[in-house]
Amino acid sequence: MKDHSSQRIHSGLTCGDLTDRASEYLDDRLPILTKVRFGLHLASCAHCRTYVKQIDLVSSALRNLPKLYPSPVNRLRLCQQFAAHHVACVSGICHARRLHC
Ligand SMILES: [Zn+2]
Repeated sequence: MKDHSSQRIHSGLTCGDLTDRASEYLDDRLPILTKVRFGLHLASCAHCRTYVKQIDLVSSALRNLPKLYPSPVNRLRLCQQFAAHHVACVSGICHARRLHC
C-alpha cells in the first residue's frame, strides 16, 4: 500500500504502519495513543479504511466458520505420525529437517 505523507503528518503513522498492526487494532490490543493515531489515519485515508474493513470482514468470516475437530481415531493417527516425524527429526533421519523442524 502506498504511503501518503499527509497521514504521517496528521497521525504519526504511515499506511505501512497501519497495515502492519491492523489485526491488533481490530482486536483492541493497541495502546490508547496508538489507537487514537489509527483513528486519525483512518479518518483521512480511504485506502486504509478499505483495508481495515476487508481484514475485519475476513476475520469475522473465519470466526463464524464451524469448528472442526478430527475424530478420535484420526486424532490418534495424527499424533502418532507427528511423534514418528519428530523422532525422525531428532535422530537426524528426517530429510525435511530444515523445513519442518
Ligand atoms: Zn493509509
